[in-house]
Amino acid sequence: MDYQFSRNVPVSDEDPVGNILKVAGDPNIISFAGGLPAPELFPVEELKQVTDAVYDESGRQALQYSIANGDPELRDQIAKRMNKQGITCDTDNIIITTGSQQSIDLTAKCFINPGDTVIVEQPTYLCALDVFRSYGAHLVGVEMDDDGMKMDALEAAVQANPNTKFIYTIPSFQNPTGRTMPADRRQKMIDIADKYNVMILEDDPYGAIRFAGEDVAPVKTFEHEERVIYMSTFSKILAPGLRIGWVVAEKKLIKKFTLMKQTVDVHSDNLTQHIIAKYMATYNIDDHIAKIKQVYRKREGIMMDAIQEYFPENVHYSHPEGGLFIWVEVPGNINTQDLFNTCIANNVAFVPGEPFYADKVIPGTFRLNYSNMAEDQIKVGIQRLGKAIEETMNE
Ligand code: PMP
Repeated sequence: MDYQFSRNVPVSDEDPVGNILKVAGDPNIISFAGGLPAPELFPVEELKQVTDAVYDESGRQALQYSIANGDPELRDQIAKRMNKQGITCDTDNIIITTGSQQSIDLTAKCFINPGDTVIVEQPTYLCALDVFRSYGAHLVGVEMDDDGMKMDALEAAVQANPNTKFIYTIPSFQNPTGRTMPADRRQKMIDIADKYNVMILEDDPYGAIRFAGEDVAPVKTFEHEERVIYMSTFSKILAPGLRIGWVVAEKKLIKKFTLMKQTVDVHSDNLTQHIIAKYMATYNIDDHIAKIKQVYRKREGIMMDAIQEYFPENVHYSHPEGGLFIWVEVPGNINTQDLFNTCIANNVAFVPGEPFYADKVIPGTFRLNYSNMAEDQIKVGIQRLGKAIEETMNE
């Protein structure tokens, strides 16, 4: 059959990142390529217990169809958490989604007409780029430094693209760089958005996993008008297989999102929503997050010490205070694919930086993950990686 796909479907079947993850999945390879949370931290026993309780107490209701904006109990629990973080909201400001990936898709679905500009960090979360592209967005990348998106470059980008629909930002422990935008930049981002009347899409899956330094309030807490669509997820603070996230935004926008979500999946899995609501009512999720932070702090520390010991002097890398990732920039225009191949030959892997860039690619960059790696393997892997970088730089 010669399929006549819509314009939303990519022409190529190429899946470069999938291929890398496949190669990196070889058990002989120490892989820093994935972005997975540590499965040994999933609260399996607690989830099992609250699942039983849900079946016993409200099984028939949990297994029934439900409303598209999500279980009221769960929205209530999330609203309480959000208010504690300074985001003033009630349950009608919240819609439950099938993970942040769906929140990004829903936002794109509601706002992007082909040709509309979406401004993104350069580099950024590549699956968000894929979503925006699938709706025909014109992507404009904004240069970052160690403190995230540069605000003068952001203003220039918004000014140059009057059809900008929104700025997509991951302000805390960004994927892929691990960078965090300080409060003054968050304030400035709001000022720019106000001045040019654009929205901000704040994607915050990692903000709760701060293991060093001081908390920085979400961008949404700086707004004067309700122009920030805030989204987060249980993927990194509980378990990604649950596939539950949420959006906080103005009530009239949540109504539109609800209508649009109905057309996609009617509502997110109702049983899972009940399970998470019960978990949050029974346990203090912050106690669980504290355990995650402790483990990730240790792994990040081991990786950072090894990087300092084994990477060549002039290699630049981020120093994350939370989240899952470190970003590495090797100077001298090196070919990241060559470096990747050398690494695979030496049984270590990372994700090359190229796919994370919307337009202008900076060569010699790559992402390392430390959350899902046995501690004794981190040092060995970084030692191999350091050697491979040296070899590739000297070629
Ligand atoms: N946004 C970012 C920045 C992410 O890194 C991820 C997942 N790695 C997502 C969204 C999607 O998260 P979820 O599992 O909630 O769909």
